[in-house]
Amino acid sequence: MKKIILLSLAILLSANIFAIDPVKQWGQLQVKGAQLCDQQGNPIVLRGVSLGWHNIWPRFYNKKAVKTLKNDWNATVIRAAMGVTTVEDNYLENPTFALQCIEPVIQAAIKNNVYVIIDWHAHEMHTQKAKEFFGKIAQKYGKYPHVIYELYNEPVEDSWESLKQYATEIITEIRRYDPDNIILMGCPHWDQDIHLVAESPLKGFTNIMYTLHFYASTHKEYLRDRMEEAVKKGIPVFVSESGVTEASGDGKIDPESQQLWIDRMEKLKVSWICWSISDKNESCSMLLPRANSTGPWPEDVIKRSGKLTRGYLQKYNK
Ligand code: MG
Repeated sequence: MKKIILLSLAILLSANIFAIDPVKQWGQLQVKGAQLCDQQGNPIVLRGVSLGWHNIWPRFYNKKAVKTLKNDWNATVIRAAMGVTTVEDNYLENPTFALQCIEPVIQAAIKNNVYVIIDWHAHEMHTQKAKEFFGKIAQKYGKYPHVIYELYNEPVEDSWESLKQYATEIITEIRRYDPDNIILMGCPHWDQDIHLVAESPLKGFTNIMYTLHFYASTHKEYLRDRMEEAVKKGIPVFVSESGVTEASGDGKIDPESQQLWIDRMEKLKVSWICWSISDKNESCSMLLPRANSTGPWPEDVIKRSGKLTRGYLQKYNK
């Protein structure tokens, strides 16, 4: 009998029945003041991982990988980084392939009750293309509470004034089809000038948040303070990308600075995502090239940044 009980317990544990079902639990998200909240209006914090560029690592854009990240890594949100420019075979060159990559991720997120960010992964502005894309996505997926739109990964050269015009156009288009899902908007200088947003946020829309990105080895106290000041001014901040490495995505890993970031985000109830599920020979890539495309991933194919990230997710998402 004892053996049977132990065996049943082992089976239950291996099925990870203790992983939470984020969308079942929190439903349709909303923003109240600076805070991301669940359907009932209770503050929540989403914590998850970003897939790498779809056009470099299409192999990780599959349904099973989403399931692995939710069930084994405890991610409550997964970001699909749809490469729009820069790297070849991007969305502008090949939209059909981009959709073939991101749609299975969106559909798996819906099936597995996990939130998904559809990230327009660009560094320059392409207003008309973004408007068409998000219009189509909102028509198809806006009814699902799982979906979060990210309008512009990391602007580099654009002023906040021009970004506000861009955001206004795209948000207006999304809201024709989807009145309520969360929309994330980037800010100047690789999503670091959140103080410019705080001086002049968008007006007339609901459920909008602003993204801040950091890489723990490069960005330290000044950027943490900038985030805190923005939140205290009532700006809803979402860290839709971050890394334990230098800003290049490579170089030294700084777990101490990462912990300071996490402590600050947890204190402010700011949601966060780590970059990335990919297998490049650089320190922010979480997996080795010999890792399979779907998971589950054994210890020996997960790199240090991956182990740290998985550890943070397992610790905080419970
Ligand atoms: Mg909706």
